[in-house]
Amino acid sequence: MILILLGAPGAGKGTQAQRLQDSRGLVQLSTGDMLRAAVAAGTDVGKKAKEVMERGELVSDDIMTGIISDRLDQPDCANGVILDGFPRTEAQAEALDNMLNDKKLSLNAVIEMKTDDAVLVERVTGRYTCANCGAGYHDSFLKPAKEGVCDKCGGQEFTRRSDDNAETVTSRLKAYHAQTAPLLPYYKGKGILKQVDGMAEINEVTRQIEAELQNI
Ligand code: AMP
Repeated sequence: MILILLGAPGAGKGTQAQRLQDSRGLVQLSTGDMLRAAVAAGTDVGKKAKEVMERGELVSDDIMTGIISDRLDQPDCANGVILDGFPRTEAQAEALDNMLNDKKLSLNAVIEMKTDDAVLVERVTGRYTCANCGAGYHDSFLKPAKEGVCDKCGGQEFTRRSDDNAETVTSRLKAYHAQTAPLLPYYKGKGILKQVDGMAEINEVTRQIEAELQNI
């Protein structure tokens, strides 16, 4: 199964992708995580992406489609993937169609996580992840059961993304509305767009996504 989670920054794509990964044996392909790893490793891609990401703008379509195409060829993706953060432009969506065609794969569903911009700044600026296993948390909405200890792995170190500040979030929201939201009619036209309420509580969003996937 190949799924796309589409939504603004802070809509909850990463949280829900982690849950689908655990419940359905799909692999989460987060282009943001891949770019952050490339930046940390100091690769050529990382060097090109670093400043663009800090400004809250989008990395070039060629880089992104190359990364996803290579990743889809790896054996762990054979059972299916959740695309989290890709595609983000019409050019990326068209490139994805072509690469799936070439690889004899098909896109099963695009799930839009609908949100109001007004809540997204608070959601994004409050989030953090376990430095050991990458599990996601939030200062207000999703705290670990025991303060300072990761529920999943027991890790006690957490990190915050450098682009999760109010100023950069505003640029990222602009990029979403200008460049990514036009993908909604693109996928609606293909008859594969599903919508869930990204404003709902986390377990309720998961329930809505699972309900949509039952029909596929
Ligand atoms: P995310 O973790 O999905 O919020 O992505 C963080 C940043 O990585 C974005 O603000 C972009 O600068 C960059 N990025 C991630 N995915 C893409 C993509 N598909 N196309 C262009 N830039 C991307």
